[in-house]
Amino acid sequence: MSKNFNYIIIGGGLAGLQLALQLSRDRFFEQKTIAIIDPSPKTENDKTWCFWEKGKGQWDSIITKSWDKSRFISSEKNIELNLEPYKYKMLRSIDFYNTAKSELLKLDNFHFIEDKIVRIDEASMFAYGENESYGAIHIFDSRITSEFLEDPKYTKIFQHFKGWIIETETPQFDPSEFTMMDFRLKYKESTSFTYVLPISPTKALVEFTFFTPFITEEKVYDEFLENYIKNILKINNFKITETEKGVIPMTDFPFHKESTPKITKIGSAGSWIKGSTGYSFKHTEKKVAMIIENIKAGKDLSDGLLTKRFRLYDAIFLDVLSQTNEMGELIFSNFYSKNSIVEIFKYLDEETSISEELKIMLSLYHPQFIKSFFRKIF
Ligand SMILES: Cc1cc2nc3c(=O)[nH]c(=O)nc-3n(C[C@H](O)[C@H](O)[C@H](O)COP(=O)(O)OP(=O)(O)OC[C@H]3O[C@@H](n4cnc5c(N)ncnc54)[C@H](O)[C@@H]3O)c2cc1C
Repeated sequence: MSKNFNYIIIGGGLAGLQLALQLSRDRFFEQKTIAIIDPSPKTENDKTWCFWEKGKGQWDSIITKSWDKSRFISSEKNIELNLEPYKYKMLRSIDFYNTAKSELLKLDNFHFIEDKIVRIDEASMFAYGENESYGAIHIFDSRITSEFLEDPKYTKIFQHFKGWIIETETPQFDPSEFTMMDFRLKYKESTSFTYVLPISPTKALVEFTFFTPFITEEKVYDEFLENYIKNILKINNFKITETEKGVIPMTDFPFHKESTPKITKIGSAGSWIKGSTGYSFKHTEKKVAMIIENIKAGKDLSDGLLTKRFRLYDAIFLDVLSQTNEMGELIFSNFYSKNSIVEIFKYLDEETSISEELKIMLSLYHPQFIKSFFRKIF
């Protein structure tokens, strides 16, 4: 048995649901039938998304907390970061899934299907699930290929982390500012740091994070979290109320090259995660809007989604980290001390001009960047 739709979205995660929401809000797609296929009912809080944006945004009614001040701490520096005009916002994935589902379930042309897609036949435009097959005119696919793990041509490091939401009986946190990166505790000579997102005076998410070519054992995160909370935050009495773990590939592997005129890879599978940071929440919003404009203009759907020069900068940065992982603290220290937050966020949002990018590159200068530049262009 098969079912037919105008569009199939494989994966109802961040990219799939953002795409579905933006399609649902545009009258151009009112008559189109759209299926969101995912084996998971998305009923759990599987991640916490953080992102920055200027002023008010479309998720403000469901964000857990936002901050306009932050701090970067290294073994030598303690820098206060005034984020104005930006705000750094924290959104629990479950709140996003619930909001997206409740909005989409009101519409007759959107269909949520619980199934795992195992294969797409592009000639017939059928996606084969474990339960049924689904036909479509266009398929959006957020399944990620694992090939990148094997391909030696591309740099791959992992952003891997474990975080605890901790609660204390007495006020211990200043909820008006968060810690972006604190390098005072590091795992050997690696790029590893802690960040702290205080939700209230008695509650915070504390996360120990690595940007490394290796993954580590679970107990390492636990030791560092415990050590940070006891020795840096000086909190002895706390209870862990939630745990979050994750691995985000930081790579210049061109996932998006699997897109074809009829199948558009989206999200992580479309190279939407910024290689150098692991952030994708705001990029996803922008890319989804571009896809919709491309559909309406009759263009190739992937047109203009990625910018070559930003991919090159990210590739060079990743190469530097993979060749000299111990340099992470110095690089981020220069990044946050020699550039304003507006310059930094604009650069990470890929909205800077070439002259602004050159200024940032000069602020990070180290001979390894030159070596990595040549390694990446040849
Ligand atoms: C723990 C964690 C924390 C993160 N925090 C941040 C953050 O703070 N800020 C930020 O900007 N980015 C963050 N990221 C990075 C990025 O934003 C997320 O990974 C984001 O979820 C990527 O969106 P996506 O749609 O590509 O993938 P997902 O949101 O993972 O969605 C993919 C969906 O596809 C489904 N799927 C998989 N296989 C199949 C199949 N065969 N058939 C059908 N469906 C399938 C999955 O069930 C899933 O629902 C984080 C990532 C992780 C893992």
